[in-house]
Amino acid sequence: MTELVGRSISELKKLLAEKSVSAREILSAHWKQVHALDPEIKAFTCLTEERAQKQAARVDELIARGEALPALAGIPVAIKDNICVADYPTTCSSKILESFIAPYEATVAQKLDAAGALFIGKTNMDEFAMGSSTENSAFKKTANPWDVSRVPGGSSGGSTASVAAGMAVLALGSDTGGSIRQPAAFCGVSGMKPTYGMVSRFGLVAFASSLDQIGPLARSVEDTAIALSVISGHDKKDSTSIPDPFKNQGPRFEESLAQEPDKLMKGLRVGVITELVGEGIEPEIVSSIRAAAAVFEKLGAKVTDVSLPNSKYALPVYYLIATAEASANLARYDGVKYGLRETEGTAKDSILQMYKSTRSKGFGAEVKRRIMLGTYALSSGYYDAYYKKAQQVRRLIKNDFDKVFESCDVLISPTSPTVAFKIGEKTDDPLSMYLSDIATIPANLAGLPGISIPAGLGKDKLPIGLQILGNTLSDEVVLKVAHAFQQSTDFHNRQFPGLATVG
Ligand code: GLN
Repeated sequence: MTELVGRSISELKKLLAEKSVSAREILSAHWKQVHALDPEIKAFTCLTEERAQKQAARVDELIARGEALPALAGIPVAIKDNICVADYPTTCSSKILESFIAPYEATVAQKLDAAGALFIGKTNMDEFAMGSSTENSAFKKTANPWDVSRVPGGSSGGSTASVAAGMAVLALGSDTGGSIRQPAAFCGVSGMKPTYGMVSRFGLVAFASSLDQIGPLARSVEDTAIALSVISGHDKKDSTSIPDPFKNQGPRFEESLAQEPDKLMKGLRVGVITELVGEGIEPEIVSSIRAAAAVFEKLGAKVTDVSLPNSKYALPVYYLIATAEASANLARYDGVKYGLRETEGTAKDSILQMYKSTRSKGFGAEVKRRIMLGTYALSSGYYDAYYKKAQQVRRLIKNDFDKVFESCDVLISPTSPTVAFKIGEKTDDPLSMYLSDIATIPANLAGLPGISIPAGLGKDKLPIGLQILGNTLSDEVVLKVAHAFQQSTDFHNRQFPGLATVG
């Protein structure tokens, strides 16, 4: 049988359309990959096998009837475990939701299903998406396919590792402060955080509602664009969803990519964020970003250095706003409405004690740390000094972006200051873990679209991520620039060393 793992969406769809393979065969090739690799990678919290079989059968029927194939027909997809897939667990990798079965389906999952995708499974993550390494999962630690002694990044580590290891062609992650882009950088794949409000969050378990955004992960920008076209658009079930972001046209991001790289880059102005190519960033990473700037220049773009002076406050601002919102969002896990209820040692009539025991047993250390921080920042007497101040500085950060976007179309920087670190290396030092997102957080605070794509190999031959940021709703420009880079380089084709041997 033709090798089916590691292929692009368009390759797989071509094979399907010419009837060289069936959706069931694509599915079984990916199950084989999951069974061969996942015992070591540990990307999945649950496999959604029955659902995938049904979806594959449906696609095969379409083919048999000679009907047109939808955008993701027969494409295996992995879904982060904070996004609801009806009738399967949505645990957020937390003990408190271990027994929770989603009674409904997230809009993004519905859209993937309608586009013919095959759901492989739900993926491991940092508990409630709080973390940068997937080590905060209550269940297991996902390994980086490039080196299993290292983290895949986080919090969407399971989704990202599943794509990097060829267990899924696409995956969905969520990005509150970098959780799609940073793991994409660590695992050598492409991962996009769309403009805030462009993808429905209905059915996404909330962490920090003014920052959370769902987005796709894939092995190329082209596949990322196809997935984004499918999942984006207005949803009346999400009140933060942008009304009519595409002026009724329906997004076709992949179509705008079908040009030569120099045409894609023609006349574009690229700014290199100076604060992110200096101190604190591994030297190999800085060189790769400078080399990427040279690639854009060669393609006809105008490259300049730009400054975002207030971005130095992004980390503290984020850890006040995100924790404040999390403390409110996570108040709903009280042992009454969802999942775990801990009554052991509780007097029958003490509901307060039941809340306390449930939350104390159900939440992990990082989640508790965030709830306490956020509750403190919102408490009377401190609200003005912390939460309100943070919101004011958030505005200054956004103003910096507005200013540089007057003279730039996109901004580039490293996605992360380091390559993938060792499992256990930062678990005892939350601050150094938080620093992992220093380059990604500003875009969430400003609601901007951003992508991370592979841009070389750094220390210990591990992938380096190039971040490309755009102005509000210029997701298409971001994708074009990223695609132009991939058309001119081959970093995205360097799969993790084990991929070629399995299948
Ligand atoms: N690592 C950041 C955090 O721990 C971002 C997480 C995310 O984007 N979900 O909050």
